[in-house]
Amino acid sequence: MPELPEVETVVRSLQPLLIGRQIQDFTCLWTRTLSDFTTADFADQIKKQTIRAIHRRGKYILIDLDTGYILVHLRMTGKLLFARELPQQMKHVRAWFSLDEQSCLYFEDIRKFGRITFRSTLTDLESKLGPEPLSDEFTSILLKQILTGTSRQIKPLLLDQSVLAGLGNIYCDEVLWKAAIHPRTPARRIPSRKIEILHTAIVTILTEAIKHQGTTIRNFGFQGERSGNYHNRLQVFGKTGQPCPCCKTTVVKLSVAQRGTHICPSCQKF
Ligand SMILES: [Zn+2]
Repeated sequence: MPELPEVETVVRSLQPLLIGRQIQDFTCLWTRTLSDFTTADFADQIKKQTIRAIHRRGKYILIDLDTGYILVHLRMTGKLLFARELPQQMKHVRAWFSLDEQSCLYFEDIRKFGRITFRSTLTDLESKLGPEPLSDEFTSILLKQILTGTSRQIKPLLLDQSVLAGLGNIYCDEVLWKAAIHPRTPARRIPSRKIEILHTAIVTILTEAIKHQGTTIRNFGFQGERSGNYHNRLQVFGKTGQPCPCCKTTVVKLSVAQRGTHICPSCQKF
């Protein structure tokens, strides 16, 4: 599933192509792709509007228009792609925006979990999302406040988008390994020194992953049929049976909060 670095990569790839374009029309082939709107109502909201900006909040792509925002969540397999014309292979195309100069922005989604909607303000979205890990707001002091206030297990806590926006299964496993924290550790039991290491791990790993255009294991791709390269730098995620890069103990896979979770049992003691 695309996480913060992958969504950021999509946004950066689309910025130079979309900003300043006018939306002419919208077509939806799989109606559940649209949340809260019929295709006609959604099209009415966005037609003839100019794309002012495109940015990311958590795992959401936000397209700024004059009267509001198009919100896109890629979920498992969504891809948002700009093209001069629709692809010849339309099997997985669920919706598209017709743009000026005979161009289009189309949404391809094999698993059909991705969603598109429109909001006139971002108030609702902001109320659902925790801080951005790469913003100035996210300090080690803030992370300490978040963790000391709860006895929830650290991995499901970090996956909770209302606590911290943007982390998913891959980067959670990577940051917890880097900070040598077992994913089932109750948050308030994590010592202050380790919280500082965890904070640094979150910021540096996400920053590095953006630099390498995200992780492509399956299905993640962006403009120009490109894929991310960060999977070459993963340390524990997907490395079951391989030696831990730090201590050579075999990496094992557990289930934590119903998510496949990779740890080094020596580095990450419970
Ligand atoms: Zn280890």
